Amino acid sequence: MKGLAIYPGSFDPITLGHLNVIKRAAKVFDKIIVCVGSNPNKKSVFSMEERVEQVKKVCARFPNVEVDYSDRLLAEYCRSKDAHIIIRGLRALSDFEHECQMANFNRKMNPELDTFFLAADSKYTYLSSTAVKEMARYGADLSEYVPREILKEIELKFGNGGK
Ligand code: ADP
Repeated sequence: MKGLAIYPGSFDPITLGHLNVIKRAAKVFDKIIVCVGSNPNKKSVFSMEERVEQVKKVCARFPNVEVDYSDRLLAEYCRSKDAHIIIRGLRALSDFEHECQMANFNRKMNPELDTFFLAADSKYTYLSSTAVKEMARYGADLSEYVPREILKEIELKFGNGGK
């Protein structure tokens, strides 16, 4: 499919579930911008700078994926990039209501904008940044959940670097 798509999220931190969405979307669209934002409902553990660096490290392997950040309203950010497509991942019914609301809100703010949903791979339906942080707090092995490029950094943040 032609064109540019924006994949927005908090990515606090980026997980293998996010990476799976990026990999699949990058095959479909000419270019993806992964846009790191801040979700006012969630206090982030990693700073914006840390999250952007992590996503950059992980996405370096994809020639058509760029990484950016924004504190603006998503619909406005998309307009500034002349982008008409937002990508979001759906894990479970519990994601659905909120995601539908956001998609409709964004289309109201910017009628040229549409949201494309990718169903989470069944391997990752239970995986969230929140679950990763919870496991990291208890020193669990994170290698099945986060990209290898950022594994050490996450362990260090939670004081598990000496394992
Ligand atoms: P936000 O705070 O904007 O929801 P997240 O970083 O939590 O940001 O999620 C960004 C997007 O990635 C959302 O669409 C979310 O549903 C999706 N996502 C998160 N985890 C997964 C996963 N394991 N598989 C597929 N999509 C996911």
